[in-house]
Amino acid sequence: CGIIGYVGSRQALPLVLEGLRRMEYRGYDSAGVAILDNDGDLGVARKAGVLANLERLIDGGSVALPGSTGIGHTRWATHGAPTDRNAHPHRDTSGRVAVIHNGIIENFSPLRAELEAAGVELTSDTDTEVVAHLLAREYNSGTAAGNLPASMAAVCARLLGAFTLVATHADVPNVLVAARRNSPLVIGVGAGEMFVASDVAAFITHTREAVELGQDQLVVITPDTYEVSSFTGGDADFRAFHVDWDT
Ligand code: GLU
Repeated sequence: CGIIGYVGSRQALPLVLEGLRRMEYRGYDSAGVAILDNDGDLGVARKAGVLANLERLIDGGSVALPGSTGIGHTRWATHGAPTDRNAHPHRDTSGRVAVIHNGIIENFSPLRAELEAAGVELTSDTDTEVVAHLLAREYNSGTAAGNLPASMAAVCARLLGAFTLVATHADVPNVLVAARRNSPLVIGVGAGEMFVASDVAAFITHTREAVELGQDQLVVITPDTYEVSSFTGGDADFRAFHVDWDT
């Protein structure tokens, strides 16, 4: 029930975990992170239960998660039991794309069937996993192949329901793509670093400059830039604001 993404020059893992901690009040049943380094190594850790379970898994050293591009998720299961394998992030078969999602993809069932018919093996019971596979396929061989934001827009155009999505691709370090429909998404604009989150609480200790996305919009963040567009590629109306409440 919480989403955070970071690109910048600091190590992403502690910032992502802190963001998840600050959104714990929203409630959740599982948590996970994906961290990408500049060599294109994408590490993922995910665990059912409280955030401390995930932190134990990471501290246990079974996964090394260096890198300054990262995403983190707390899940409130709607499709698939709250188990380790259903925890986000979800990846495509190559493991180079990782996606987190809050909300419900209502048409996941025909999309799943389409992927299975194409020989894709799904490894979770979630509605979310289809997005990782569709995005990877779109990026590899779609009309906007090699263009992550355009590939994401093409995938979003096929989804029904409510979603805040954030995706990372191992081919594209220092970039995150996020999208929203009927579910919140806010950008946190730092100095040489950028956040995306479902709630300003996730990044409030690092920046108070925020941008709220409108409906059916997508944003690409890099350490120094954010670029908002609509799923259809047209102009996007978004709102910049200063968060002035106390932490
Ligand atoms: N529908 C997704 C799932 O069950 C995301 C749930 C959420 O909002 O955390 O995995």
